[in-house]
Amino acid sequence: MVSRSIEPGSTRTKSKTRSLPRSRKNGLRAIRTGAVPAVTLIPGDGVGPEVISAAVEVIKAAGVKIDWDRQAGGAAALKRFGNPVPDELLESLRRTGVALKGPLETRVGVGYRSINVFLRKTFDLYANLRPTHSFKGVHTPFRNVDLIVVRENTEDLYSGIEHEVAPGVVESIKVITARASKRIARFAFEYARQNRRRSVTAIHKANIMKLSDGLFLKCARAIAKGYPEIRYQEQIVDAACMRLVTDPSSFDILLLENLYGDIVSDLCAGLVGGLGLVPGANYGDKGAIFEAVHGTAPDIAGKDLANPIAAILSGAMMLDYLGRGAAAARIRAATGAVLRSGRVLTRDLGGKAGTREMTDAVIRAMHRQRG
Ligand code: ATP
Repeated sequence: MVSRSIEPGSTRTKSKTRSLPRSRKNGLRAIRTGAVPAVTLIPGDGVGPEVISAAVEVIKAAGVKIDWDRQAGGAAALKRFGNPVPDELLESLRRTGVALKGPLETRVGVGYRSINVFLRKTFDLYANLRPTHSFKGVHTPFRNVDLIVVRENTEDLYSGIEHEVAPGVVESIKVITARASKRIARFAFEYARQNRRRSVTAIHKANIMKLSDGLFLKCARAIAKGYPEIRYQEQIVDAACMRLVTDPSSFDILLLENLYGDIVSDLCAGLVGGLGLVPGANYGDKGAIFEAVHGTAPDIAGKDLANPIAAILSGAMMLDYLGRGAAAARIRAATGAVLRSGRVLTRDLGGKAGTREMTDAVIRAMHRQRG
């Protein structure tokens, strides 16, 4: 079973321990503890190799043995094998059921479809969980941001159904189903119940998309009835964005369709200090892929500039999933200590440190805790 743990970036006490939804209904699989777990490692593109290697080092320093199966994907695989999703990668994922993944490049407007979307759909990783918390030592307009983004991962405008109706006229189809809407709402409410969260807010634009977003809301309302102890609210997406940047404390868990979830995740990351800090996980019935919210960040790739914290904390979420909650907590405490001290910070946080230096600082902080 999935262990209970503190969430990434949390500076709160153990009395507020949290866990992932784990009922059969929401489909997170039972975890084998004890044996050395096999995990697919996808370094990815852009800053991916740098931040994923940081996460691997930190996991090792936390004392967890992993049987990593390193696989290429995205632009790196296209270059090497002529295929952005090699069969070996898919076979590895089928075998391990768990991956730690760097971002994969998706060209804007041209080329192959997003491999990230392809993997989430192929393995039906329907729930994207992005815990977004303030860190002491990272100066932002709000101090105590504590938001959980729950994003539906398999449909909406990401269904990839686009066509040209006539020259100069194209259509993109937004697909919303009751099945997917109910299961993501159930995931959000189960998470809320198990982690003693206070509310779930469904974010929508049902005033305009009456059928699609209307169905999403109808499903969320139906699921909410089964969780009377958790406050259920609804907010139109534009108003929600305004409220998030003026009063983030009025939200707790955000329940969103795929596209709104993507956009609002970055907004929430901005509230706590940027994309370099926010981890993420994609859960399905048969496995999970852990990856930071950020993309390939080509502007800083290969320059030892990327902040590795988001990838490191994604690794901690993976350790929770693998039943290694104590090691995950050590990693969170160490990253929290490094950020709090403010001595070693990457440039996105106003410092001068590189990826390597920040990684070493986290490892040193972990050794200090143990020693
Ligand atoms: P993609 O197309 O893969 O999404 P992108 O550059 O459009 O790439 P992100 O990779 O999410 O989108 O990055 C957006 C901005 O945030 C970039 O300017 C990048 O430098 C910054 N950024 C993203 N990740 C990090 C990180 N780990 N550390 C520091 N800055 C980051």
